[in-house]
Amino acid sequence: MLVVGSGAGGLSAAVTAAFHGLKVIVAEKEPVFGGTTAWSGGWMWTPRNELARSAGIVEDAELPRTYLRNVLGNNFNEAKVNAFLEAAPRMVAFFAQNTALQFEDGNRICDTYGNVPGAGTGGRSVIAAPFDARRLGDLVRQLRHPLRETTFMGMTIQAGPDLAAFMNVTRSPRAFAHVAHRFARHLIDLARHHRGMQLRNGLALVGRLLRSAADLNVQLRASSPVVRLIEDGRRVCGAVVASAGGEIEIRARRGIVLAAGGFPHDRQRRSGLFPADAEHLTLAVPSATGDGIRLGESVGGRIDTTLASPGAWCPVSLVPFPDGTFGRFPHIIERGKPGIIGVLADGRRFCNEGNGYHDYVAAMLHTVPPGQEVASWLICTRAFQRRYGLGITRPTPLPVEPYIKSGYIKVGRTITELARTCGIDPDGLERTVADYNFHARNGEDPAFGRGATPYNRLQGDARQQPNPCVAPLEHGPFFAVKVVPGSFGTFAGLKTDGTARVLDQTGVPIAGLYAAGTDMASVMGGHYPAGGINLGPAMTFGYIAGRHLAGEPDFDTGTQGL
Ligand SMILES: Cc1cc2nc3c(=O)[nH]c(=O)nc-3n(C[C@H](O)[C@H](O)[C@H](O)COP(=O)(O)OP(=O)(O)OC[C@H]3O[C@@H](n4cnc5c(N)ncnc54)[C@H](O)[C@@H]3O)c2cc1C
Repeated sequence: MLVVGSGAGGLSAAVTAAFHGLKVIVAEKEPVFGGTTAWSGGWMWTPRNELARSAGIVEDAELPRTYLRNVLGNNFNEAKVNAFLEAAPRMVAFFAQNTALQFEDGNRICDTYGNVPGAGTGGRSVIAAPFDARRLGDLVRQLRHPLRETTFMGMTIQAGPDLAAFMNVTRSPRAFAHVAHRFARHLIDLARHHRGMQLRNGLALVGRLLRSAADLNVQLRASSPVVRLIEDGRRVCGAVVASAGGEIEIRARRGIVLAAGGFPHDRQRRSGLFPADAEHLTLAVPSATGDGIRLGESVGGRIDTTLASPGAWCPVSLVPFPDGTFGRFPHIIERGKPGIIGVLADGRRFCNEGNGYHDYVAAMLHTVPPGQEVASWLICTRAFQRRYGLGITRPTPLPVEPYIKSGYIKVGRTITELARTCGIDPDGLERTVADYNFHARNGEDPAFGRGATPYNRLQGDARQQPNPCVAPLEHGPFFAVKVVPGSFGTFAGLKTDGTARVLDQTGVPIAGLYAAGTDMASVMGGHYPAGGINLGPAMTFGYIAGRHLAGEPDFDTGTQGL
C-alpha cells in the first residue's frame, strides 16, 4: 500500500495497515514529515472515546449524531457521519492499545454550539500525550519544526494546564515552577539538539505516529513527491514518485491513500471556490498545493464543491519579523477573553467574538460590504494585553514594545486616536465602545450574547464575574491588531464513501483509491461544530482506509482487530 503525504490522515492509514499485515510505503513531498498536522493544536474530536468513558462520561451514540444532524443541516452525509461516529472511538482504542500513540483527554472541552440539541459539554476530544522526541532516534532530523508563531522560542505549549501555567507565570509560584522547569529543559534541548524535544500538540501526534510507523517497518520516504497515478484497467495500482535520482514507479497491489493535505496553497482552485475579494492567509504548510486532489481527478475522482464552506477558517494577523519576513498568527485564544472586541472599518462589532474561529471569519466575510477590504480589528486595553496577550504578543513579563515599534500593534491614548491610527471610523468606534461598555459593566452583551454558551465560558476567564467573557474597555492606552481571513486548511475535497474510497462521477468507488485528511471532502460538510473536527476525522478515516485496504471486516460485520 502506498500513502501520499505524512500528516495525520496518511500516517494513521499507514500505521493501521502495517499493523494489519500490509507492506506500506509513505511518500512525502517535503524533506520533513508531518505536514500541517505538525503545526496544529493536535486536538481530535472523537466522541465516545475510551478516555471519556473511563472518566465516567458515557454518551449514547445518538447524541453526537443529533448534534451533527442539527449543525450540518443539508450537508449531513449519513453514510460518512455514521462511519465516522462508529469508527472514531475504535480508532482511539486501536492506537492506544497497539502503538506508540497514547492520548490525553480533553474532557472539559465543549462543542461550539452549546444551544444546539446534542451538543457535548465535555468528553469528545483527545490529544496526543506529550512526546520526548529522543524516542525517534535519527528520525527526529526528518521531523518538521513547529510553526514559529505559535511557540515560545520553539517550545510547543499545550492548551489546558500547560498553557494556563504560562499565562499565570507571574501570579502563581506553582505556575512559575512549571514554566521554569519546562523552559530550562527546552534550553538544554536547543543547545544539544538545535530544536525543542518535548513535543506537544500536533507535533506530539506526528512524533508518536512516526514512532509507531517505524516500529511496524513502514518505509518512510521524504523528498518523494507523488506526481502521477498508475492504472491497470479500472484499478489504481501504483504511482510515479519523483526523487533526486529521477522518477520511480511504486507498485501498490492493495491500493493508494491520498493524504496530501488538501489545496490551501493552490491559488487557482482557491480562486474558483473561496470568497472573491478577500485576501486569504492560510496557515497550512506551503507544500499543501492540491496535489492529492489533482491525482484523484486524474483517474476520475471528483471534488465536492457543495460544502457550506470550502475552507476551515481562522482569523489571522500578519506579523512583521525583524529579519524582514512575515509570519501568520492564528487568533484562537484571546478573542474569548473578557475585555476585547472585534470591529470592522466602520467601527461596528459584527459577531460574538468568543465563538469559534471559523465563525468569526464567516461573519467577517458575510458582513463586510462587497468591494471593501475584508478585515477587522481586535481592540483592547493595554491592561488586557498585559494579562492575556494580543495576537503574537505575550502577557507580562514579556515585552510588547517591539511589536508596537514594528507597527503590528497599533496604540491610541483614546479610542478616537486608536481609530485614526487604524483607519477605522472614529465616531463609529466611539459609539461602539460606549454602547459595549454600558452593558459590559454589568457583565452583559445584549448585542451578541457573549458568555451564553459553555464554549464561550470555557474560553473566558472564570475570575471575571458576573460574566467570564465580558469586561468593559475603560482606561487607555488602547491597543489594536488587524486580522484578516485565513484558514487551517480546506474542507472541500474528493468525494468519498464511508470506507474512504474515492468516488467517480457516477458515485462508484474507484478501485484501489482512498482519501483521508483534507484530501477528502470534510465529513463536517463545511461546518465547524467543534475544535478538533479536522484531525479527529483525518485520524479516523485514515484508520478506516488502512483497515479496509488490509481486508479487515467492516465494523457491522465483525470486530476483528479492534
Ligand atoms: C495552527 C493550526 C492549528 C490547528 N489546530 C487543529 C486542531 O487542534 N485540531 C484539528 O482538528 N485541526 C487543527 N488544525 C487543522 C489540521 O492541522 C489539518 O486539517 C490537518 O493537519 C490536515 O491533515 P492532513 O493529513 O490532511 O494533511 P497534512 O498534515 O498537511 O499532511 C499532508 C502532507 O502531504 C504532503 N504532500 C503534498 N503533496 C504531496 C505529494 N504530491 N506527494 C507526497 N506528499 C505530498 C505535504 O507535504 C504534507 O506533509 C490546525 C491547523 C493549524 C495550521
